[in-house]
This record gives sequence, C-alpha cells and structure tokens, in this order.
Amino acid sequence: MKQVNIHGPGKVQLDDADKREPGPRDAVVRVAACGVCGTDVRYVRMGGLTRPMPIGHELSGIIESIGAEVSDLAPGTRVVLNPTASSNMIGNGGPEGGFTQLLLVRNAADGGCLFPIPDDLPMHLAALSEPLGVGMNAVDRSEVTANDKVAVFGAGPIGLSAIATLRDRGISDVVAIDLSPRRLELATALGARATINASEQDPWVELKKLHGEEPLMGMPMAATDVFIEASGAGKVITDVLQSGKAESRLTVVALHEQSVNVSFLWVMMKQMTIRGAMEYPADYTDAIELLTRWDLSPMITHRFPLDRIGEAIEVATDPNAGGKVMVDIDTEVN
Ligand SMILES: [Zn+2]
Repeated sequence: MKQVNIHGPGKVQLDDADKREPGPRDAVVRVAACGVCGTDVRYVRMGGLTRPMPIGHELSGIIESIGAEVSDLAPGTRVVLNPTASSNMIGNGGPEGGFTQLLLVRNAADGGCLFPIPDDLPMHLAALSEPLGVGMNAVDRSEVTANDKVAVFGAGPIGLSAIATLRDRGISDVVAIDLSPRRLELATALGARATINASEQDPWVELKKLHGEEPLMGMPMAATDVFIEASGAGKVITDVLQSGKAESRLTVVALHEQSVNVSFLWVMMKQMTIRGAMEYPADYTDAIELLTRWDLSPMITHRFPLDRIGEAIEVATDPNAGGKVMVDIDTEVN
C-alpha cells in the first residue's frame, strides 16, 4: 500500500508503506476519500513537523478491521474521522496520515474517533465533515441568532463551511468577502446573500451599504453583528476593530501566522467580543446531519486520484482555484 509523506519543504511523495494491523484497542479504516486542507499546504511549505511526515486528515472510509477490545464499531461500517481524538494527531504530526489506503486509528475503543455515516451519503461528501465541522464550530462560537447580520471574511473551504452552516440554521443576512471571484460564486451557491470582492471594492464601504451604519461618537460604523475571520489576513482584524459597531462579535477561525497589531482601545470602547475557534465540535453528528440533508457538492471543485497527490496539493495552494480539493483513494467504496 501507499502513504503520502512530506520529505522536506515542497517535497511530497507517495511512498510504499507496510500494511497496518490493529492493536487490541485500535481500528483500521479503508480510506475512500480524503480532502486536502490548508494545513496540509502549510505543512508542505514548511517541510513537515517530522520527516517523513504523513499527511491527510479529512477523510471518510469503511472500517476494515478492529481490535478485540473495540466494542461499538464493526467492520463494514462507513465512517468519518476526528483526526485529533484520543491523541491520534492523524496527519498532524502523528505516525499516521489519511492519504493512504489503510489507516490505523489508535485507541478507537475510546469512542470519539470514528463516527458512522448514513449509507446514502457519498464518501467524497462525507469527507467534508471535518472542514464543515471547523466552520460550524466558528458559527457555534459566535452565538449567532436568526436576526444577526453576519460578515464572513475569506471564502475558502472554512469560510464556505461557516456560510453553509449559517444558511442551514436560517441566518439569511450573510455577506462573504474574498479576493477570488470563483470563491465568491461558491459563497453565493452556499447561501451568502451578497458578496464583496475586496480586490475591486472597499469592503467596508460595501458592507456599510449592505448592513447599514450605526454611529459611534459621530463616526459611522458597519452595523454588522458578527464577523467571522476565515481569511488569515491580519488587516481584517484591525479593520473589524476599527469599523465594527459597538457590541459586535469577532470570531477568528483562520490561522494567523503573523502577529497582528491591534488597538484594544476600540475593543474597550465598543465592548466588543473576540473569540477564537479551533477544530470542530467533539461530536460530528451535526456536521454529518447537515451533509445528509443538504448536498454540499458545489464546495468540492476538484477531484484527483491518490497518485496525482502532487497536483492536488498544487491546486489547493492556489487561492483562485476555488473550493475543496478532494482525493479519491478507494473508488470501489464511493
Ligand atoms: Zn482540515
């Protein structure tokens, strides 16, 4: 069998690997599909956390075998994975990665690692559970209510997942901001009421037109209630603090590698709430149910077989490419 590993900065290889057998508390999953994540791209760029570093963590598959102490899972069950449950760190620095045919999931007996999915949910869509969970967690953390006006900065897979979650929960006034026309099209398809291309228009002028203005000491602030930062651009954070209205909330789900210099005078004066959002709800049920009742196919813009992993990662590196890049590993079970 094969395993995708990082061997150095920009060096990704499909290596031969030994077949995995489960220990008493483990499970082995025959991987059907695995999405390329922004974190994978980042790991490739930095040369991996370990070398070689196995990658891939957004996956669906079928349980192939289980250890003697695993009682609540059975071979043949279709599942999705929480890659960081039970200290696995699958595709995130641990000894396993999801871009492989047979994935060892350690301590699956603990529960919380593998979640069964309905028979009629296609595997490539089920593999969206993990990124959808990240966007969903950002929405949960924002405590959005039906009448809130929401702005989502960044319409990559995480921003799109937040937009789809908001739409699914009946929040109708969602504005998406990005630099890529392709991504903004996807944002519309997944439920954004309006989009702003920040490379062509001043997002704050447009946002104030769409959400209205609310004065603060004579200055017009954007009347947006909730800002979800999924772009990774530091300027978004400084702009939200400066141009957001009093009592507005900012949730940061993007990975900011650089420090951001912000004025906490605004945070204090406006009584703003800033929250971080990382990973997903511990229980994948909400994400699986959303995928079951709403076909999120538009989110997947590219599909590659495993032996074209290099191209898959290259496409995922280009922010203009669109949405999620999916790698089909075992098409027999899709
Ligand atoms: Zn991911």
